Amino acid sequence: MDIHEYQAKEILARFGIPVPRGGLAYSPEQASYRTRELGGAAWVVKAQVHTGGRGEAGGVRLCRSDREAYDAADALFGRRLVTRQSAPAGKPVYRVYVEEATDIARELYFAIVLDRGAERLKVVASAEGGTEIEEIAAERPGSLTGASIEQAVGFLEFQARELAFALGLPAEQIARAAGVFLSAYRAFRELDATLLEINPLAVTTEGELVALDAKVSFDDNALFRHPDISELRDRSQEDARESHAADRGLAYVGLDGDIGCMINGAGLAMATLDMIELAGGRPANFLDIGGGASPERVLKAFRAVLRDDNVKVLLVNIFAGINRCDWVARGIVDAFKEIDVPVPVVVRLAGTHVDEGQRILRESGLPIHSADSLKAAAAEAVARVPAPAAS
Ligand code: GDP
Ligand code: MN
Repeated sequence: MDIHEYQAKEILARFGIPVPRGGLAYSPEQASYRTRELGGAAWVVKAQVHTGGRGEAGGVRLCRSDREAYDAADALFGRRLVTRQSAPAGKPVYRVYVEEATDIARELYFAIVLDRGAERLKVVASAEGGTEIEEIAAERPGSLTGASIEQAVGFLEFQARELAFALGLPAEQIARAAGVFLSAYRAFRELDATLLEINPLAVTTEGELVALDAKVSFDDNALFRHPDISELRDRSQEDARESHAADRGLAYVGLDGDIGCMINGAGLAMATLDMIELAGGRPANFLDIGGGASPERVLKAFRAVLRDDNVKVLLVNIFAGINRCDWVARGIVDAFKEIDVPVPVVVRLAGTHVDEGQRILRESGLPIHSADSLKAAAAEAVARVPAPAAS
């Protein structure tokens, strides 16, 4: 689960990391009020959306009067902010954060990420933070410095200090920077985060360190033990198809093609997406029905996949081990009875109780296209996508 920048900053502040003073606004009037409440002579009005790259897209605006803050907020509200990191449709702006502006001397980059290859957490930092970090990392990988964390002992103080030295910080800032890194690690671990990024971690003209932007993502499977974090969820920022499925305990990933996929298991899902692409088609989504799926669960899955209007063909690919093909087949037949299935359905069943499953489908008399192999099923699904209407 992702959260907004201002929420991430509240968390960092709780762990002792300095952040600018700021306030949230839901309207231009509130944004202008926030500038007077904060005092000072310059503020930054920042769109709160679950995506990075806001600065370049006009989502971060420096203002020098309450009137400018009003106008900046007014220009952002109700708009969908499209950034280099967002999906093409962008993310809707319903909240802005107004902060006292910071005088930046240097912009650093700091992150804690999962290093899946090493099966460890990794701390990454760069002396060249800010909006260009992706390009800089690609052009000069050497500019990134990092430390791998040994799970049994955690992120150690000497590692934090080494990192601070590697960033070329002056002696009087080393302890402070190391403190920020260690606090960030404590937040990451205590809150079951999967990503924590501070970019920029600014060195101010007064020599202070301040987290000017923050991103924290959490492990969905651990949210049950962090009710205060779960509360930070903002559905307006999520893919509506994915939230709908998640609320029903279904693992669903939205894509942008036109073939809906119902599959058991993530590995088989990947293989199926590949086979569809190989056959010249494009998947609209995939839904993993999991193991031991009941007919009721299959029916729910049908509903979830068909909610997406882009789906022009539905491909069901089940390789049943724990699952039972007869249950899946009954779920499919029930789906045709209970809901309107406006698209061709291609089904490939293999494994446990496959004969019974195929018999159920055959005897149902429903317009279901059966295929014997994954390859045949993918080809069949692609062939059944209607040609785009002539315009
Ligand atoms: P992002 O583009 O979504 O990563 O948004 P950021 O919050 O990182 O802002 C983008 C850039 O705006 C930063 O890298 C800074 O250069 C600049 N910026 C953000 N806040 C301030 C501020 O308080 N003062 C100044 N001078 N620049 C800021
Ligand atoms: Mn940033």
